Amino acid sequence: MTDLTCKLLIIGGGPGGYVCGIRAGQLGIDTVVVEQARAGGTCLNVGCIPSKALIHAADEFHKLSHYDGRSALGITAASSAIDLARTISWKDGIVARLTGGVEGLLKKAGTRLIMGQAEFLDGKTVQVTTDAAALRIVAENVVIATGSEAVELPFLPFGGNVISSTEALALDAVPERLVVVGGGYIGLEIGTAFAKLGAAVTIVEATSKILPQYDSALTRPVMASLEALGIKLLLDTKARSESDAGLIVETADGESIDLPADKILVTVGRRPRSQGAGIPGLSLDMDGHFIRIDETCRTSMRGVFAIGDVTGEPMLAHRAMAQGEMVAEILSGKKRVWDKTCIPAVCFTDPEIVTCGLSPEEAKTAGIETTSGQFPFTANGRAMSMEAESGFVRVVARKDNGRILGLQGAGTGISELASAFAIAIEMGARLDDIAAIIHAHPTLGEALHEACLKALGHSLHI
Ligand code: FAD
Ligand code: NAD
Repeated sequence: MTDLTCKLLIIGGGPGGYVCGIRAGQLGIDTVVVEQARAGGTCLNVGCIPSKALIHAADEFHKLSHYDGRSALGITAASSAIDLARTISWKDGIVARLTGGVEGLLKKAGTRLIMGQAEFLDGKTVQVTTDAAALRIVAENVVIATGSEAVELPFLPFGGNVISSTEALALDAVPERLVVVGGGYIGLEIGTAFAKLGAAVTIVEATSKILPQYDSALTRPVMASLEALGIKLLLDTKARSESDAGLIVETADGESIDLPADKILVTVGRRPRSQGAGIPGLSLDMDGHFIRIDETCRTSMRGVFAIGDVTGEPMLAHRAMAQGEMVAEILSGKKRVWDKTCIPAVCFTDPEIVTCGLSPEEAKTAGIETTSGQFPFTANGRAMSMEAESGFVRVVARKDNGRILGLQGAGTGISELASAFAIAIEMGARLDDIAAIIHAHPTLGEALHEACLKALGHSLHI
């Protein structure tokens, strides 16, 4: 067995691990990243990027199929068709460019990427099984960035027609009937895309609402769009078992329904990859299956850090990246702690939802007296000119001094306002700071300006 030593060993080359690797290399730390599958992890290969590519293709197709002579825009197009296999190969091309880019960036930073499966022998020693050989790496510091995987329902194991998001993002034909189990992020994003591609979609959600973590004002525009797309939504309904024709579900009043399905997409959450790779042998302090970390991403074992999905909610790529960057800087001797006020979250539904900071309800629970302002896209010229009038921007601010605590909204293209929302909150902006800033016209960003004016009691355009 060959031995290798390094100052920093990162297990997992997803957004957490690869960003940590790039930054550590830039800072002159002798770093090795070990990845068992493909650089870029879930996000680049089977998550964020592939799903957004599919959503874009579905939007384009859907738009075209509505230019059938009834469009108010006066556009009529000949009948549309989709070759999903080609769409998927276009998506694969984007993935290849990005994952190749990650490999190049690691190399440029002087960080070694080893393709193989890592397993802890102890807190400083890891065995890596590669195609060619087994390798033992001894490191001063280790970062666990092993990510997460789709939760499987015991009575509905993946295989055959029962698929996870990974298979859904690689189908070569649009299923005629798609049943989605779980009305959360993935179920709604992918379910909506397939409905736009022509599938008859049913979403089965165990609780009484979609995206249970968001308030009803934010999910209402999405509910309306699901209905307009003809997506059947069964709330308070649980998947029970596969049947010959599809899926048997049980409604709140105990009724059993057999839903015909060509594919059953199970999206009931993701679980941290903390039970393999010899991680249990380290006896780290845990929060359930998540590895417990402090505000510097240190675990309970000296020299062992953990970042990304394996450390808890929110399981988002940008949180993993920010943690990875921070850990690299700490290891280079910089004084850093996790001091973020907010982590923006975007759900790429139709329309999109963005949340950042505290909702009115969360502020109330925290005992903070707030004032709030909301501006609808029906009064925004840019939204009207894009046929995207559904949704709004909402601001939540402290009543005593107007400091902005939260920004949320729903709307087509509102994902691009997530940065503005986060900047306002992280920089401690007050309502009158945003009110005093010139927002370019005509843009969706004017809704942020107007929501703040509304909270101050002098909105201009409503
Ligand atoms: P991962 O990306 O899961 O990477 C972990 C890596 O570790 C993997 O490559 C794995 O192969 C490797 N690994 C594991 N064990 C070992 C081992 N023993 N040895 C070697 N390598 C190992 N988030 C967003 O912010 N925005 C989105 O729009 C979004 N969309 C998503 C859509 C889908 C369909 C899915 C599934 C997820 C989406 N996410 C999104 C979530 C996002 O992908 C994750 O939060 C992010 O990838 C987590 O990064 P990570 O580095 O912690 O883990
Ligand atoms: P989720 O937690 O968002 O949603 C799962 C849903 O499934 C919940 O609404 C839950 O009530 C429901 N559910 C659970 N068991 C069920 C059952 N037996 N029958 C019916 N419904 C059931 O999980 P997800 O959609 O799998 O996504 C996982 C994670 O991936 C997200 O939490 C998020 O962190 C990340 N993600 C983020 C994005 C984004 O940022 N745009 C996109 C996709 C995924």
